[in-house]
Amino acid sequence: MAICEILSVGTELLLGDILNTNTQYLSRRFADMGISVFYHTSVGDNPERLAGAVRTALSRSDIVIATGGLGPTPDDITAEICCREFGFELEFDKATADKITAFFIAKGVEMPRSNLKQAYVPKGGTVLENTHGTAPGMGMKKDGKCLVLLPGPPYEMSEIFEKHVVPYLSEYRSGAIVSHEVRTMGISESRLAEEFSDLLSGENPTVAPYCKIGEALLRVTARADSAEEAERMTQQVIEVIRGRIGEYIYGIDCKNTEDAAVPMLRKAGLTVATAESCTGGLIAKRITDIPGASAVFKHGVITYANEVKVRELGVSEKTLSDYGAVSEETAVEMAKGIRRKSGADIGLSVTGFAGPDADEDGKSPGLIYVAIDAQGFTECEKIETGRNERDYNRYTAASRALNLIVKYLKTELKI
Ligand code: ATP
Ligand code: MG
Repeated sequence: MAICEILSVGTELLLGDILNTNTQYLSRRFADMGISVFYHTSVGDNPERLAGAVRTALSRSDIVIATGGLGPTPDDITAEICCREFGFELEFDKATADKITAFFIAKGVEMPRSNLKQAYVPKGGTVLENTHGTAPGMGMKKDGKCLVLLPGPPYEMSEIFEKHVVPYLSEYRSGAIVSHEVRTMGISESRLAEEFSDLLSGENPTVAPYCKIGEALLRVTARADSAEEAERMTQQVIEVIRGRIGEYIYGIDCKNTEDAAVPMLRKAGLTVATAESCTGGLIAKRITDIPGASAVFKHGVITYANEVKVRELGVSEKTLSDYGAVSEETAVEMAKGIRRKSGADIGLSVTGFAGPDADEDGKSPGLIYVAIDAQGFTECEKIETGRNERDYNRYTAASRALNLIVKYLKTELKI
């Protein structure tokens, strides 16, 4: 089984100026290809340290794939150093130089002479064409080992990877690794770990819990000779997970609750309207982040002040004075009010204390009520995050509200 190492080159990565998304992208794709990634290394634009990092990588991995530092400026040293360490010479390649020149002509800008530095490619290696930029990728193979160099900009890197690197590495592929994320809401990572202690010790498939903002997920990964077989193995485990904690699952492989809720609403042909207090429009924002939201999102209001809850939503003054703005009673009246007012099929509401620090009544930050109102169905959930962090509480409140839509559609309408 081939072992791969991802080498990220760039001082800006080490300074924390940019997030290393290339490594994440490549790691996922190598998993799909059944190639094990054992090491991630990041190194700055320093010749000695880069040389050391490549040497180490080549000593312990079959495939080393480096990204970044292929540009035309003097601090772009990846090609020179990596090729030298792998025993390849750089030579001027006329075909690559012509492509770089044509790239600038097409853009209508004069080419800086320094760009011709990018026309130097390893003698005896493979040029991996870059249609989005000037620096081509490069591949070299020797004694069963392989070194691939790709430019840093993610758009260029991924394009070259998909078009040229995947076929270039075909001889290293062994079977496939399939991975799925079971997304849950309302159950903690530690409870998941307890509930699935039997599965967590498995080697194939593997099951691992992860914590996200206000939610937890289980990643199920299987390795097999074929993608179909690996898929079947993951599905078996997902069925076991569903059997034990199905009520907490809001989706498989979706990014967040809005990513689950909007397609379900579309499928059901239903519309939603929102009335928000402590989330200040975040639920509406998150729904409308999803392409196609216009088919399901009607109307959203932010009713922060009590008098606006009364005027815009018809929440009764007595409810507010008897139970307070942050209460189940108010949340339910808000959801009913926005449904009535907008004519949407579903009214969704949230009211809570985002924090930091307690409000005048001494109610704790992180106390939130989310409610849903639909034809013949009303439900309210009380949430106590126990956290004094405004962003965390607001995001969690929005997620839990959106999850009410998922739960309603799943349990009541069997979507
Ligand atoms: P260029 O010709 O643009 O200089 P390059 O191959 O020299 O390309 P770098 O200079 O290392 O690449 O990076 C260019 C840009 O690509 C960075 O500013 C950054 O925005 C992005 N980038 C580089 N490496 C990564 C990475 N590992 N993850 C995400 N983005 C990255
Ligand atoms: Mg650069």
